[in-house]
Amino acid sequence: MRAVVYQGAHDVRVEQVPDPELEQPTDALVRITSTAICGSDLHMYEGRTVAEPGIVFGHENMGIVEDTGSGVTSVRRGDRVSLPFNVACGFCRNCFAGDTAFCLTVNPPGAGGAYGYVGMGPYRGGQAEYLRVPFADFNCLTLPQGDEHEDDFAMLADIFPTGYHATELADVSPGETVAVYGAGPVGLMAVYSAILRGASEVYAVDKVGDRLRLAEQVGAVPVDFSTQDAPGEIVERTKGGVDKGVDAVGYQATVSSGQEQPAIVLNDLIATVRPTGAIGVVGLYLPEDPGAPSEEAAHGRLLIEMGRFFEKGLRMGSGQADAKAYNRQLRDLIVAGRARPSFVVSKRMPLAEAPEAYARFDRREEGYSKVVLEP
Ligand code: NAD
Ligand code: ZN
Repeated sequence: MRAVVYQGAHDVRVEQVPDPELEQPTDALVRITSTAICGSDLHMYEGRTVAEPGIVFGHENMGIVEDTGSGVTSVRRGDRVSLPFNVACGFCRNCFAGDTAFCLTVNPPGAGGAYGYVGMGPYRGGQAEYLRVPFADFNCLTLPQGDEHEDDFAMLADIFPTGYHATELADVSPGETVAVYGAGPVGLMAVYSAILRGASEVYAVDKVGDRLRLAEQVGAVPVDFSTQDAPGEIVERTKGGVDKGVDAVGYQATVSSGQEQPAIVLNDLIATVRPTGAIGVVGLYLPEDPGAPSEEAAHGRLLIEMGRFFEKGLRMGSGQADAKAYNRQLRDLIVAGRARPSFVVSKRMPLAEAPEAYARFDRREEGYSKVVLEP
């Protein structure tokens, strides 16, 4: 079959790889109909996170069940399914508590499993014609048959639950004000989730014009950090700071924001959130980051203004999102017509055009805010 294979920094190609097979009685094989490119893929694509050449990328997958092992009971051939990016067993202590991003079975000790991602287990990615899904009863979310809402459902594997998770970590409640740093696909989903949860005012901070426009379209106030002092502006407008904040940028801000000093979004958030507020961190930070601009950052150490954080009595939650914990409810909001996360999807492209799609998404080009590949 054809698949998107990582070759080295800024180099992915569509190549022939062996077809996946059922390896365990609990596996399913899924024929992929939609597989999105994620900002997380760009960490490897840009060479910031060191990945082995030969990896098949793709953790935002959905498709049609092609075959199932003898132990799979809840899905069968022909079912349309979304596949949460976390590969999880469903029966370990963490999965049982809903913390499927920290499954203890698939990739001990609780570092989490994912498709097509370095350091997250041996699972091949789904930017390909077919995908093997372990523990299929747990890792498939069934969808209504047909092809309705394909782009909406394609957001269920990762970014919609991840954006929602950010607002859950920050405990966004009705009527609150929220600032989301980063209006990439994940930040936009956090903005959207905050609005779904009843936030009264949401600020979206970025510097990419069409991303800020998308945030504005769904009801956020855009703040361009390249021309404005974002924390200062938001604190002034909210007379003392927002109730809740979200970091949807992560460690790449230290290299990508184009400022002279490496940007540390967490410090911007500490400045932006009012005393006793809370911050949800879904932007990625790594313990080892060879591509970081400084020796400290290369070992995952950032200079966080802890004094200010403590003085303000802030709370913070972080981590990979437990997509499984939210995707059923988010699916049902889509089915009911109450959520339309596909507003972030700017393009569908054939799998064969993956190299171009990666390059353009990586440059944050206008019209490439989120790309879904179609095998
Ligand atoms: P992205 O790279 O497309 O978006 C990041 C955005 O942040 C860009 O639009 C960029 O212009 C903006 N930005 C850069 N520096 C900034 C700064 N100083 N202030 C404000 N904005 C700034 O990526 P994405 O797909 O939206 O993903 C965002 C982050 O979320 C990535 O780190 C990704 O790895 C992570 N992620 C985490 C999870 C999880 O489970 N926790 C899941 C998916 C993605
Ligand atoms: Zn993703």
